[in-house]
Formats: sequence, C-alpha cells, structure tokens
Amino acid sequence: MRRLDRETVDRIAAGEVVTRPARVVEELLENALDAGADRVEVAVTGGGTERIRVDDDGRGMSEDEATLAVERHTTSKLPEGDLRAVETLGFRGEALASIADVATLTLTTNDGGPRGTRVRVEDGEVTVDTTGRGRGTTVEVTDLFHNRPARRESLAAPATEFERISDRVAAYALLRPEVAVTLDHDGRRTFATPGSGSVADAALAVYDREVARESTTLGAETGVAVDDREVSVEVRGLLAYPSITRASTDHVRVAINGRPVAMPDLRRAIERGYGSLLPGDRHPVAALSVSLPARAVDPNVHPTKERVALRAADAVADAVEEAAADALSTADLRRSADVAMDLEAALDPVETAPSVLGDVDVIGQFRDSYVLCAAGDGDELLVVDQHAAHERINYERLRSAVAASDVPSRRLDPPATLSLSPDAAAAVEAHADDLSALGFDAAPFGGGAVRVRAVPAPLGRVADPESLRDALAGLREGEAPDGRDALLADLACHPSLKAGDDLSDEAAAALVERLGACDRPFACPHGRPTVLAIDEEHLARGFDRHPRRG
Ligand code: ADP
Ligand code: MG
Repeated sequence: MRRLDRETVDRIAAGEVVTRPARVVEELLENALDAGADRVEVAVTGGGTERIRVDDDGRGMSEDEATLAVERHTTSKLPEGDLRAVETLGFRGEALASIADVATLTLTTNDGGPRGTRVRVEDGEVTVDTTGRGRGTTVEVTDLFHNRPARRESLAAPATEFERISDRVAAYALLRPEVAVTLDHDGRRTFATPGSGSVADAALAVYDREVARESTTLGAETGVAVDDREVSVEVRGLLAYPSITRASTDHVRVAINGRPVAMPDLRRAIERGYGSLLPGDRHPVAALSVSLPARAVDPNVHPTKERVALRAADAVADAVEEAAADALSTADLRRSADVAMDLEAALDPVETAPSVLGDVDVIGQFRDSYVLCAAGDGDELLVVDQHAAHERINYERLRSAVAASDVPSRRLDPPATLSLSPDAAAAVEAHADDLSALGFDAAPFGGGAVRVRAVPAPLGRVADPESLRDALAGLREGEAPDGRDALLADLACHPSLKAGDDLSDEAAAALVERLGACDRPFACPHGRPTVLAIDEEHLARGFDRHPRRG
C-alpha cells in the first residue's frame, strides 16, 4: 500500500465519490472483489444512511495497511502508478477516505495472521485496535451524510434509495457470477447468488425462475482491430428471450472487464441483437460481460467510473450485437407453458429439434384462436396462437419483399396531418432520405405539425399515416438497418388473421408449416410468443401419472 504521488493524483479523473448510499455500496463491493473475495455479503438498513455493511472473505489487510487505507490517495492497486494498465476495479485510493468524511466508518480486517485489526473513523478521528476475526474484511458505514444536511435532504425516500442499492448489487451479482453475492435489507434476505460461475444460477437468484428458464446463455469470442492489431473480445452472459421484457432499460446490463458500466452504446448494441423480436417500446433483460485486453480500455474517464473509454468502441459494439443476435437466432424461443397445475416446472427449456414444426400434426383448433398440434414423437402438445403466427409470417414476407429496394408507396389525397413533438418534427427533416426510402413523403410545416403526402404500401398493404411515428422512432434510435422493422411489424399486424377466425384443418396445417419456415418462428414481430409447448411430462405429473418411457 502506498500514497500516490501528486502527479498521479492529478491525472486521476476524481470527482465527488459519495453522492448517495448506492455509491458507498458500489465502492465497498468493488474493494471486496478486488481483494479476490469468493463471497460478499451486503446488508443495508433503511435507505442506507442508517447502516451499510459489506463483509468479504478476500485477502484482508495487515494493521499497517488498514491504517493507511482510510487515508486519501492511498492504494495498493497502482504498483507503478501506471493508469493505462489498471486491471482492478479501484485505483484512485479515495473511496474509503471519502466515505469516512461523510459517515462513521469501521473497518475490521485480517490478512490471515493470528489477530485482526479494527480501524474506526468518526468525526475525523482515527482509532486503531486489535480484534478477533478470520481472513477477510468487513466495512460498516453508519450515519451517512450526518454532517451533510443538504446532501441528506436531496436523497429520495428510503425505499427508492434501497432500490438503487439493490440494482447495483444485482449488477455485480449477475456480471460476476463466480462470486457468491448476498443482499439483506432490514434483516431480510433480498437475494443470494450461489457463486457457481453460472450466470443462469445468478439470474435465478436475482430475478426469478421465469427469467432463468426463459433465457439463453452465451459465450462468444471474436477478434477486433485496435490500432492495427487484432485483439480478442470475449462476450459472455445471459439473454432473456423476448417473451420477457421490461418497460425500462435498467435490466440491460453490461460489464467491461468485470466492471458494470452504464454505456448506452453497448446497451443499444444488445438491443439491436434482438432485432425485430422485441416489441418497439419494450426492453430486454440481459447481462453481458465483455472482456478485452486492459490496454484497449481506459477506465479513468469518469468520476464514478460508470463509463470507460474503449479503443475501437464501434467494433466492440458490433461484436456485442453479433454475439447477441447469434445466440438468439439459435436459441429455442418457444415458451414452455407453465400450465396452471402447480407443477414443479423444470428449469431447462424442453429439449426439442429445431425442425419441430415440420412434422407436427394438427389435431384441432380451440376457441377459433389456437391451433393445437402434436409434436416431437407425439409427446409434446404445441399451442399455436394463430394471430401471432400469422403476423410473424406476414412480417417476414413483407420484409423480404422490401429487402433490397425502396418500399413502394401510395399518395394520399388529401394529405394527412400529424402533430408531433417539435424535436420529432425536426427529425422528419433530418431523416428525409431514409423516410422516403421507406415510402413516406412527409415534411414539417411548423409548430410540430407534419404533412404526410405519401405512405408505404408494400404488397398492397397501405400503411396508416400514424405509422410514421414508429418508423421515425426506429430511425432516431438508430435501429438497424433503417427503421423498417418497426414499420413492417405494424403493417404485418393489421390485416393478419384475427383470433376468432375459423380455420380448416388444411389451412391450420399450412399456417403452422409456414410459421416453421420463418427465420424467427417463435415470436411475433412485436416479440410476443407464437407457440407454447407443453410436454407430456407436464401433463403426466399434473395427473399424478408416471410419464411413459421410450
Ligand atoms: P482503491 O480501491 O482505489 O485502491 P480505496 O479507498 O477504495 O481505494 O481502498 C484503499 C485500499 O484499501 C485499497 O487499495 C486496498 O488495498 C485496501 N482495501 C480496501 N477495501 C479492502 C477489502 N475489502 N479487502 C482488502 N483490502 C481492501
Ligand atoms: Mg476502492
């Protein structure tokens, strides 16, 4: 442990470290992970201002180290003062000191010797004594912001502050599944991951059984050029299937070299990997860890380290998108039905051959809305939502019809008028070329009003002028390749077969077969599932029977 020299301190992008309780938790968690802990337990009282305690089984500190650690700019993590080669989460040596400035901090630690050390900082006064404790470190922070009334005032309600804490701890737990992470709140367990190294196990703990079951894990490696040299980029983690979505982007998590980061470019890359599987206004649940050589990353660009600078950032984003898209296109996206029979559902999705819709037998229709089929070796019941299936088929037909060329359009006479927000209206102008390739002829005429003179009309389907909103949103979000997906999904939806249409057996069989021939048969263009699978075992267990063997 050493004090950083003035020059290094000046190069560090320091800022206010402790802005709210979640930041304290984050810094303490990072220290525990840097110490090589296999197990980290976080306990919080109230919103975190009362008490935060982080306990680890890492390498611990000697008495001298512990005494130095609470001083400012002391760290064991920059041996050569070389900021370009940082591989640890911490490196600025200011977290413990900054926390001690605004709270009472008690650090109990042992590096494996016969006795442990306790360092307490209260109102700037440091006391050191010896104490019993096994190897590892416990940091307890109480009365946070007691001497910063304005800061205290600015905090949200305790429940909200705890939510932020929980979100941060969940991020580390998901992105570092090899560490057993526990979070307790007011004496009750919020979650505990097993530290098995499996992100699916971590997701089961942090989320629930549904997310764990309805997701796929991936591990991909590609080469990316950084300054003319090829470096290897590894993408590991978990993607929930599009049957599970959230209204916000909070559950799209990314780590760079083990550090959870808030980087919108990477988040969007993951969402692009889902392509049209995701409903326009919904976001996936995903946790991806990206690993690349330390010299391709500069962690020292943001005061709270929530962002890092990447050399070849675009290439890394592309690698992430591709890894996600690959994993999702090979995954079996059928939702395995959780029939309301209170069954102990298996965690793994039912194992099925990819061509399963090729040799299914239609056995009937239910309520003019669902096609029932026997699949596999007849040991699986498929329920196909005929409306969703038809949307998927239409969508892929439309997509291939407009793939390489401009979308045919139809003139509106008289033109339609849409009222958009001023920035959206400005975007109509900025994206004029893209919109015209999509089949729109639209121009703003002041005050957020937009005149639409022509709309897309592929395969004779005439789009609603209102669909300009979605297409525009797609373009502004940078949706690949050019905002067509949102539009096509809309178009595919309207004249599709509706629930409630009676189908002949032949028509039902044709529908299922064509669904099976789609690129992504198991979700409608809005991301809802098209097929539920119920295997015989589900039924057998529901009826207290033993499943037939063979
Ligand atoms: P930084 O993490 O940037 O080095 P901190 O103020 O967070 O700065 O910690 C200072 C030093 O205290 C660290 O460099 C590390 O040597 C030591 N330390 C802090 N927390 C722990 C811990 N949980 N286990 C072992 N050592 C720790
Ligand atoms: Mg630290």
